[in-house]
Amino acid sequence: MTTKYLFFTGGVVSSVGKGVTAAATGLLLKERGFNVAVQKLDPYINVDPGTMSPYQHGEVYVLDDGAETDLDLGHYERFIDIRLSRVSNFTTGQVYAEVIAKERHGDYLGGTIQVIPHITNEIKRRVALVPRVTGAEIVIVEVGGTVGDIESQPFLEALRQLRNEVGRENCLFVHVTWLPTIGATGEIKTKPTQHSVAALRSMGISPQIIIARADAPVDNGLTEKIALFCDVEKRAVIPMQTAETLYEVPLLLERIGMGELVLEKLELKATRKPDMKPWQKLVAEVKTPKPTVKMALVGKYVELQDAYMSVREAVKHAALANGVEVEIGWVHSADLEKDKGWDVIQSSDGIIVPGGFGSRGIEGKVMAARYARENNVPYLGLCLGMQVMCIEFARNLLDHEDANSSEFDRATEHPVIDLMIDQRSITDMGGTMRLGLYPCLLQKGTKAAAAYGVPSVDERHRHRFEFNNAYRDQFQKAGMVFSGLSPDGKLVEIAELADHPYMVGSQFHPEFLSRPMRPHPLFVGLVKAAKERSKK
Ligand code: GLN
Repeated sequence: MTTKYLFFTGGVVSSVGKGVTAAATGLLLKERGFNVAVQKLDPYINVDPGTMSPYQHGEVYVLDDGAETDLDLGHYERFIDIRLSRVSNFTTGQVYAEVIAKERHGDYLGGTIQVIPHITNEIKRRVALVPRVTGAEIVIVEVGGTVGDIESQPFLEALRQLRNEVGRENCLFVHVTWLPTIGATGEIKTKPTQHSVAALRSMGISPQIIIARADAPVDNGLTEKIALFCDVEKRAVIPMQTAETLYEVPLLLERIGMGELVLEKLELKATRKPDMKPWQKLVAEVKTPKPTVKMALVGKYVELQDAYMSVREAVKHAALANGVEVEIGWVHSADLEKDKGWDVIQSSDGIIVPGGFGSRGIEGKVMAARYARENNVPYLGLCLGMQVMCIEFARNLLDHEDANSSEFDRATEHPVIDLMIDQRSITDMGGTMRLGLYPCLLQKGTKAAAAYGVPSVDERHRHRFEFNNAYRDQFQKAGMVFSGLSPDGKLVEIAELADHPYMVGSQFHPEFLSRPMRPHPLFVGLVKAAKERSKK
């Protein structure tokens, strides 16, 4: 079958849910029997988001193959329930790095290297890799940023060219825009959308579907106006009011006929009827009032919740599985050091310490781990959260007062968390961690093994430091159980306390593999323990 392409562009402003809309559309197509792949094009010059502050870019989402990617890839994986790979995300930085390397190598035989055709060719090459590598019948390509940005112009130009090369009938441009509401009158405005479509058309691209996002209901008059001014069929202007929950987006799109419209425009026939019942059930469950369990999330980027996107989603999945609503209290770990934020911890029935880098706020996280241990509060440590759990344990139960990770204190006498030997000589920051999927064997009779219910699992990693094996015996004697190990037994993957309702830390990031329909066992275990505590 010829590969079909579905291009998503964004208009007016960013953060209106382009990624979620693309992901939800992917689900509708998968449900109609198609093999779907997704790719995100990021216009920034960083080679990947791995070196960017979460404040700038939100969470770094890690794939099986260790690619450090944009958080939209998390939406794609969660909605469509697929496993993506490195080809599904690239940046301007990667495109230029490749072209410049070829130029230095002499591959262009003295030619002048230009945005068109050299940069656009490299972009097209990377887009075309997706069907080759994945065998997908439909490739959804989301262009990052907003139409009109200087940065995304080469991407749009490349897609315009690609459309001519693969045939117009095989491409569909969907423009996701925002309709602002004027506060004083409550009136919804279409003008910015008209301008953004005009900008797109000036680059030779006429969108065939417009998704009109707004906080208020978008009526017929408005969709008619957009159709008229933007040269789109009336039925192809899809009104999309902000949904109560993210999971409702696929249902809203399905109800309004997005799935059929896309197929018709791509000249495709569905091989089966979509079954949206699991999603209907999920949304109904989300909307049913449930008892609330409070959970404190102790992190250092809490001002920007996007920095913990997958953790938040994994908590939601686990909450549904336990029939409760989890209310997350966001605690800045540095506040705990200044005696602030403790009220949130004290009123919570569970504590999560997520991943992180650098020493700021570490002592606050150690304090939170100590509080969880001493007060029998259910605790889940994710990567760094597992490391601070071990540091706290060494300081307060093994009397190694200065115990630390060598990431935070190079001179510590007790580096209970230390660099892996093969990481010691590395000086580059980008892409040099232990990244991606690694197997973990679960030790019988542990909480982790009970939670998973299988003997071995594969989980996604993103870290440099590890538990220092020189301390294993001491830890075990004092009540720490190493419940997950690498198959050769050399790396601690999961640690837990024997004498505690649920104090579990994983060196990997379980949040990346939690799915709405398949909540992650370690999160389910945490919420279950927190629910039990809340009843007492
Ligand atoms: N900074 C720690 C390390 O590199 C933890 C990383 C993380 O939490 N993702 O090992």
